[in-house]
Amino acid sequence: MLSARSLFVYCTANQALRCARIAERPGAGLVIAPYRHDERGALATAAYLRDRSQLTTPILLDAARYAGQNRLPASAPFNPRWLRRQRELGLPVLTDSGYVDGGDEAGLVSILHRTMAIPDGIAVLPLNPVWLRDRLHLTTLTNRVRDAGVAIALVLEARGDPFGLPGTVAGLLEVLGCGVPTLLLRSDLSSLGALCHGAVAAAVGTTGALRHLAPRESVPMNNQRGPRPPATIFKPTMSYRRISAIQRAKRSHPDPRLWSCDCDACAGRDLDWMAALDDREREVPAFEHAAAVLFALRDEVLSGGEHQNRNSWAARCADAAYRERELGWPVTPMLRHWRDTAPNSVEMPLAS
Ligand SMILES: [Zn+2]
Repeated sequence: MLSARSLFVYCTANQALRCARIAERPGAGLVIAPYRHDERGALATAAYLRDRSQLTTPILLDAARYAGQNRLPASAPFNPRWLRRQRELGLPVLTDSGYVDGGDEAGLVSILHRTMAIPDGIAVLPLNPVWLRDRLHLTTLTNRVRDAGVAIALVLEARGDPFGLPGTVAGLLEVLGCGVPTLLLRSDLSSLGALCHGAVAAAVGTTGALRHLAPRESVPMNNQRGPRPPATIFKPTMSYRRISAIQRAKRSHPDPRLWSCDCDACAGRDLDWMAALDDREREVPAFEHAAAVLFALRDEVLSGGEHQNRNSWAARCADAAYRERELGWPVTPMLRHWRDTAPNSVEMPLAS
């Protein structure tokens, strides 16, 4: 049901109908997480999309019990109903895992072992990033994953982009080398890097909060700060930018070829057209544009053989970092880390 190297859209159930239309294309799919912890609502949404809509895009469900102030630990038992309903809906069965903190090897093993008992189950591994960044943790993780031999779906915790942290990209590549089918959930542009390096599927979140796992202490209790204004992807720099930053950069670099976009949301306008919308109105086109860019990039970087795709991805990251500097933006750390996966990265045109 999952074709290799699929790019999924990761959304909450209240966004699913809109996102399913965006994901209705070859090599794509939809991951639905509960909206405000309403697991029944997420199951009902998946059932509706499966049985009563005309949409045929592959669907996955992520219970996301590893997220939020009341997140569960890795040792928490799976909910048999959650697993059963996914199977009844004909979906791949993702475990409703709790959070695997740094050093919690027992929790990690417990998730993997319980998944081994689920036919074709996929172990969701919501990881503290130390599991990818620290050598001892990474060795334990890859050994345990190889031993279990079940498919895994990674979710990485970080305040911002986990792939901006040193060591995360290199750690991911080692996990992808374990020989088990691997998915990456709640990600952003690094999804494309993961697909180039052999991930079966990778899912890009619709909003900033769904593009990584926020550490518990950084989730505001009453959401007093409110959501941040939506960002979108600026294709030449392959990075998420606030619309206000895009608008400012355009003023100092008024080259029309740089700013216009032909996606369905932008329809040939310059990308800063969204500045005229308020934050709430902007959220949908910001993601529709980002999704169009991501699917276009996916088709461009995954057009060759495996070796070629990896080099092409690293070269694009180097180029995007160079363009960020040209525009006076700080280089997005993720771009540097992916650039450095190229075999001759020291000779690429950018220092540090
Ligand atoms: Zn666009």
